[in-house]
Parts: sequence; C-alpha cells; structure tokens
Amino acid sequence: MADQDRLRTVDEHLAIVLDGVGSLEPIELTLLDAQGLLLAEDVRSHFPLPSFDNSAMDGYAVRALDTREASGDEPVTLQVVGDVAAGAKSRSGMGPGLAMRIMTGAPIPAGADAVIPLEDTDRGLAKVAIRRPVRTGEFLRRAGEDLAADAPALGAGAALGPQQIALLAAIGRDRVLVRPRPRVIILSTGSELVEVGRTPSFGEVIDSNSYMIASAAKDSGADARRIGIVADDHAALLDALESQLLRADVLVTTGGVSMGAFDVVKEALSEIGTVEFTRVAMQPGKPQGFGHLGDKVPIFCLPGNPVSSLVSFEVFVRPAIRKLLGKRNLQRAAVRAVALEGAKSPRGLRQYRRGVLHREASGGYSVSFSGGAGSHLVAALALSNCLVVIPEEETEVVAGTEVTVIPLLLANR
Ligand code: AMP
Ligand code: MG
Repeated sequence: MADQDRLRTVDEHLAIVLDGVGSLEPIELTLLDAQGLLLAEDVRSHFPLPSFDNSAMDGYAVRALDTREASGDEPVTLQVVGDVAAGAKSRSGMGPGLAMRIMTGAPIPAGADAVIPLEDTDRGLAKVAIRRPVRTGEFLRRAGEDLAADAPALGAGAALGPQQIALLAAIGRDRVLVRPRPRVIILSTGSELVEVGRTPSFGEVIDSNSYMIASAAKDSGADARRIGIVADDHAALLDALESQLLRADVLVTTGGVSMGAFDVVKEALSEIGTVEFTRVAMQPGKPQGFGHLGDKVPIFCLPGNPVSSLVSFEVFVRPAIRKLLGKRNLQRAAVRAVALEGAKSPRGLRQYRRGVLHREASGGYSVSFSGGAGSHLVAALALSNCLVVIPEEETEVVAGTEVTVIPLLLANR
C-alpha cells in the first residue's frame, strides 16, 4: 500500500492534535465563575483558620480546673457572669470559679480553657450546675488548627469544586487566578442546512450538528458559541471563520471534508496551507481536518454526518479542550462490559459504536448496541449513553464477550 494511502491511526492523529494545542493565559475570576476550573496560582491564607479560639458547642465557657470535682450526684455550681454570642466583637474575660454562657462559634473568653455543653449542665442562667469534669481544651476550636497563617491553602493546578471554593471564601479570596474556559466557536457548513425553527423544504436538513457540538463543548468545560450555518461557498466560509478569529480559542466546523464535489471546507482551507486534511483509521469519522488559522487558533474540521461529528468531537476535540483547561487527564474513563449482542467491524479501522450501558445487579456492566454503524442515525444516537470501542484488528464482537466502553457521562449530571 502506498504511503499516502495509509490511514493515520487514531492515536497518531490525536497526538498531532494535542501537539497543536497550547495553553491559555490565566485569568482572574470570581469564585462561582471559577467553579470547575483549575487554579493557576498558589494560594496562601493571610490569617489562621479558625482565626480565633472559639466554642465547638452551645454551652458554658469554664476553667477546666473548676470542674474537677463535678459529678452527676454532686454537681459543681459556678456563677454565670455573661453571655458570648457568635459575632461578639471583642474578647470577653472571666475570672476563676466563674462561667460564661457561650454559643457555637463564639470567641472563648480570656480565662476560660474549655467548654461544657449545655446538655451536661442544668442550663442555668445566673448560676450553672455542672455535672461532670471537663478536660482542658474540650469543645474548644483552636485558632490555626485547620490552617496556619501563611500556610499553603491550595496549589496551582487544584480543581475548584465546592470544597475548594469553600476554603477560598473562608480565607477571604473572592477572586482567583484560573485557567480560563476555552472559547470554542462552532460553525456548520452545508448548502442544504437550515436553522432549527424553520420548516425545511424538500432537500433541506435542519442543522443539528452545531447544537450538538456546542453542547458537547460546553459539557467538556468550554465556553461554547455557535455562529450558525455557512453555505458551501469558499468566500462565505473564509469570511465567517476570519470574523471569529479574535473571539476564538478553538474553531470547529462540521461538514464539507469528504471527497464530494462540494466539500468546500476541505477545498478552501487546503489552499491556505495551515490546515491539513487527513483520513484517520476510524469509523465513523474517517475524514478529519486539523490545523491553525490566523494567529495559531486551532481549527477542527469534522465530518458532517451527525454521528461522525460527535464521535470525532469525543475522540479529538474533547481531549484538546481538556488540555486547554489544564486538566491532566484528557481522556474519559473506559469500562469493560459484556456485549449483549454481536457486531461486525471493518478490519483496520477503530470502530466506535453507540451503545446503551447497563449496570448489572452483580456490579459489572453489560452493553447493547443502539442502531447500526450508520453515521446518520441521530435517533439511535439519542438513545445511547456510551461509545463501544472495537479495536482496529477486530472484525467481530461475539455476544457474551467483553468489550471496551466509554460512558458518555454528562459533567453536570
Ligand atoms: P458532509 O460531511 O458535508 O458531506 O455531510 C454529510 C451528511 O451530514 C449529509 O447528509 C449532510 O446533510 C449531513 N449534515 C452535514 N452537516 C449537518 C448539520 N450541521 N446538521 C445535520 N446534518 C448535517
Ligand atoms: Mg456538506
């Protein structure tokens, strides 16, 4: 087989794609906008957590020594000299042999070294009967026991979920430096395409790809925007792409990359010389375009059949978006599942079939296929929740044997 006829493997193409995707300048965002992103700075707290000694319970602040003789039969009675509520603006104080009623989170008065919970007392107001001895430090939250002042709180690269956002807020950071969401611009090409909401005339097809790819990009963590449909026309395509260059970190087109007479994306972008059109040893998704436009904006030219488009996105674009986000793990986790039915697969191509993954009561997985290999089967795609990967060298899946499955779990579900 002549070398130019050799298909590029999926792994070779992915390596070229990832090599062609750099990283984005960190930006400062408010906490909730930073959710799901990676921290791009080392964060320290300027003060300790907790920042003052405070009570872990509603009860009475006491000196442990004064309660040494206390028991259920012979409680020790202390005079209550005041209340300390959470939010008390100054530190109160008390002498030996005295107690202060204290609420959870309130500052421990000077002179006290422990808290006795309400339930171990008679809850008295002027005087309180204490029914057991208290250990020094009991129910006391020490300043700095969670985080010392100037200690590292979170490191660059930390993923910001609710737990991390809680800490950032607790140490007074309302904005942090993060790796931004890549701005992904999606454009559908095809003279047959019409906008959703319009009734297609004979021969027209509603553009579903740009919605599909935009939602997939969003789910991958990108800031995704679709800019609609471009007809199969060189100038219109180049204009549309050109006009988006300053707004995009990644461009994605669908359609127009096969061998047809009107495959305008391939024709127009091949001439520019910075986008390469190749054939990848996979099914669906054999024709792929990848390269750069303008000032090194990566562009993916995906095939137009909806299933090919989504599979191509999953295999190449999603890892690229994750790389831009700074994620270490670029791939979705795969599982092994027992195939409930058989399937054929062409030799030499890595086949990605749509499947329905089931969790068995035994804890293992099983998978059935959703629709055939046809890459136009959108309704079957909608019933699927995973991709079944049939390796290049395998031509058949035998029912009852194990296959590799990539669950298409939504990030926000
Ligand atoms: P192409 O890759 O342009 O040759 O398109 C292959 C097939 O996918 C054709 O049947 C197109 O009508 C269909 N197709 C292309 N783009 C879209 C789109 N944006 N939405 C839905 N179907 C599309
Ligand atoms: Mg087309």
